[in-house]
Amino acid sequence: MPRLPDYHIHTHLCRHAEGSPSDYLDEATKKGLLEICFCDHMPSFGGYDPKHRMEAGEFQRYLDLIEGIREVSSMPVLLGMEADYYEGCEPLVEKLTSYAGFDLILGSVHFLNGWGFDDPEQLPVWELVDLQETWERYFSLLERLVKTGLFDAVAHLDLPKKFGHRLKTPKLLSMASPVLDLMAKKGVAMEINTSGLRKPVSEVYPSFELIKMAREREIPILFGSDAHRPEEVGHAFQDALRLIKEAGYSEYALFRRREMTLVPLP
Ligand code: ZN
Ligand code: FE
Ligand code: FE
Ligand code: ZN
Repeated sequence: MPRLPDYHIHTHLCRHAEGSPSDYLDEATKKGLLEICFCDHMPSFGGYDPKHRMEAGEFQRYLDLIEGIREVSSMPVLLGMEADYYEGCEPLVEKLTSYAGFDLILGSVHFLNGWGFDDPEQLPVWELVDLQETWERYFSLLERLVKTGLFDAVAHLDLPKKFGHRLKTPKLLSMASPVLDLMAKKGVAMEINTSGLRKPVSEVYPSFELIKMAREREIPILFGSDAHRPEEVGHAFQDALRLIKEAGYSEYALFRRREMTLVPLP
């Protein structure tokens, strides 16, 4: 296992992850990771996706939980959040992320007009939508996410492929290109998320072609397993490392208090 950080780890507070934060930390220690960042789903406000996230009233508990782990850990434990971008989320995300203690804010799009396109329970909706239009809507939201300047990195950049709903590569690349251009311009990093390997699509997010495009634009990358179970911490980081080296990367990003530092890959 390469000595890398895992910057995308969930907690039981999101209602669909198992194990205690200390179980995740133990796993990271066992696997010899460099450091970890808990990035649980941002709290639910106004009835937004209450099944997959902590309640608003649990936010302080989340902060305290990570603080508690940090105090007993010999490995650096960072405080992060996976924040959703949707139309009109800006004031909420701004307020939540203004909490001074955050090290990293990952930006995700999980919903298109209320459709949780990556939720297995809402999988049948894919039968009803146009593939290309869905991807277009997804990327236009990602572009807006990046434009807000509220997020440090884009999580699982090609998430709509999760169940195998892929676009042909040239189409995908032309749609993703404006988003990647904007990320480069705004200094927003890109997550190499290994959870795709545990999903029907069975590949890392984003795909190798997109990683190469990000590399051409010198977009910094960070590593995330998107662990929802302790044993998933650092999952397939060896494979991810190989892939990004093949794409030409020699550095990756570390974060502290939302400041990025680039360091050589192991
Ligand atoms: Zn989750
Ligand atoms: Fe996500
Ligand atoms: Fe996640
Ligand atoms: Zn995620």
